[in-house]
Amino acid sequence: MATISTRSAFLHGQWTSQDSAGLYGVADWGKGFVSVNSEGHLAIQPTKTPAAQIDLYEVISGLAERGIHTPVLLRFNDILDYRLREIRRAFDEAMGEQGYSGGYSCVYPIKVNQQRHVCEQMARACVELDFGLEAGSKPELLAVLGLSAAAGGPGVNGMPIICNGFKDDEFIETVILATKLGRNIIPVVEKFSELELIVKHAKAYNVRPKIGLRVKLSARGAGRWEGSAGVRSKFGLFVSECLKAVEFLKAHGMLDCLNLIHCHVGSQLYDIRVLKNAVNELAHVYCELHKMGAGLSMLDIGGGMGVDYDGSQSAWPSSINYTVAEYARDVVYRVKAVCDDAEVPHPKLITESGRAMVAYSSVLVVDVLGVSRFESDPDLAWIEQAMKDEVAGVTPAAIKARKGNGTPEVSRPASSEKGEVPQPVLDLLDAYKGITDRNLMETYHDATQARDEAMSLFSLGYISLPMRAAAERLFWAVGQRILDRATKKGDLPEELESLPELLSDIYFCNFSLFQSMPDSWAIDQLFPIVPIHRLNEQPTRHGILGDITCDSDGKIDHFVDKRIDKKALELHDLITKVDEHGVTTHEPYYLGVFLLGAYQEILGDLHNLLGDTHAVHISLEENGEWRLDEVIEGDTVEEVLGYVQYDIDDMKRAMRQDVEAACKQSRLTVTEGKSLLKYYDDGLEGYTYLEG
Ligand code: PLP
Repeated sequence: MATISTRSAFLHGQWTSQDSAGLYGVADWGKGFVSVNSEGHLAIQPTKTPAAQIDLYEVISGLAERGIHTPVLLRFNDILDYRLREIRRAFDEAMGEQGYSGGYSCVYPIKVNQQRHVCEQMARACVELDFGLEAGSKPELLAVLGLSAAAGGPGVNGMPIICNGFKDDEFIETVILATKLGRNIIPVVEKFSELELIVKHAKAYNVRPKIGLRVKLSARGAGRWEGSAGVRSKFGLFVSECLKAVEFLKAHGMLDCLNLIHCHVGSQLYDIRVLKNAVNELAHVYCELHKMGAGLSMLDIGGGMGVDYDGSQSAWPSSINYTVAEYARDVVYRVKAVCDDAEVPHPKLITESGRAMVAYSSVLVVDVLGVSRFESDPDLAWIEQAMKDEVAGVTPAAIKARKGNGTPEVSRPASSEKGEVPQPVLDLLDAYKGITDRNLMETYHDATQARDEAMSLFSLGYISLPMRAAAERLFWAVGQRILDRATKKGDLPEELESLPELLSDIYFCNFSLFQSMPDSWAIDQLFPIVPIHRLNEQPTRHGILGDITCDSDGKIDHFVDKRIDKKALELHDLITKVDEHGVTTHEPYYLGVFLLGAYQEILGDLHNLLGDTHAVHISLEENGEWRLDEVIEGDTVEEVLGYVQYDIDDMKRAMRQDVEAACKQSRLTVTEGKSLLKYYDDGLEGYTYLEG
């Protein structure tokens, strides 16, 4: 039996913000960075202290006043800062407790989020916290060198810069020259030929470089990036090649330059045991190479520190079964135990925990544009009229069968011959009227069977369109009634667990999944999604989310839940009104998508030409007010068209000529033509998302 989260409200009466906090699991995945305030709004607590909160609804309203509309990505610099210190603290404490003397640095792989504002903040913090940066490609190397130069200060030359990924001659020459410049830069050899290039350029420039080796461990990874480790992994040297590297460096008098060994077991390691095995193996390799005379002083265990996206704290792809503190303690313990045993000095530990560093700091807020839903009210008056029409023969019943146009030869149900209401429709009506708390399952079985019969009879041509419509409406209404009653009882029998999904509405939201949450589409990554306001009202609907791309994949139909991901999200009914033109409008309804800081921004694509969203950097002031530090406007239509080589001037010229011709031929008035051209020009300069 699944516990339905609305239970507490039914037991205790009035729905409160805290009921919503429980329903959406805010404390579980928010880890103290997110809470629900007494106004019923979501609030960010950048330093995990309830006394210092940023009200998200207030921020969105404030941004709207400044002309910055949703979708908008909010980046919280203070969360980023807090998170880095949290990781620093976890390792400092673990090293202190265990008497580990090697030290620790976390290096930030900029591929996780290369946005300049994020990286600049990171580079400044790295200098202060003895952290570093990682580059995985030539453009990233150049970015990292520039970032470290700009961060400046006396610490910048001590900041470790790790270079992973494939490297060519030019890449390595740049690294060697950067070493000469004074940078603490460590190229990690992924394939043997890179080592030859390093030695070549080191000799040419008379530099003693720091060299790293990536080792192919036998320990395998786990989860979505399982293939990053193990002997079949794409990167790294087999242990036999590592030994060859030692010989090669010795022969060139450079064995003291072999300073670091590295592994990467995969991103989002959800099971701590996988990490322990890999660290153990790497520590043994470290000690052996150290004893062979390598000048090793750093042990880099790569990325993998995961994020508890669904708040379940479990060994599950969207979660992790450990905390940062446990991760730190385990790494320190394993390395210390192996090194102490081998009587090798403790190395400086390095982790490349990009995801864990930045995931928490970004939140996307989107507005709901409208809802498509199954009617839960069957409209009995309409159904009764349709039945009467059916009996009276007003309805053109069973058209296909009467015409005999290829419908299989099956004997027609007597009820229909006599112009009677089809039995499945009567059964559904009975089911609808007869629901009680005690017969929910039985009613569900009856209704499902009747619905299936009605649909097959329609396909065979024996049921009219109005009778099919009646069957559909009754079935949805029965389902809704069952769900409401089960919800009130507080338990949803397993067999009915698919009902919320089956009956769920589609909330259309102003964003592109492919641009803003690509991992949701590509690898079914879950991200917490919660309305940022109205949380002191009970959500009465269940919905999935559709984006504004014209792709049927552009939807979110899995949501975080502690137990198992849920197939529909609890949402509020839109508050609607009809304007003077008879058009239904609704009050703004905003949803926040959390933990988007890692990978999403850079992996996002231009599907349907929906570009980057606006991004704003927000900080908390001492007086508790929020401050807008930076506004990075999202792509305009002109910009995204430019990315795909359109010439905007040519397009405008062509449109103008077309409109001119239409005016000449009186298909458009001059005023209409002027308006059309104005919309066209304004549209090109405007946001790629809907602006209402
Ligand atoms: N280091 C290397 C070599 C990687 O390939 C990756 C990601 O794939 C990372 C670090 C970042 O890992 P994570 O996503 O766990 O932060």
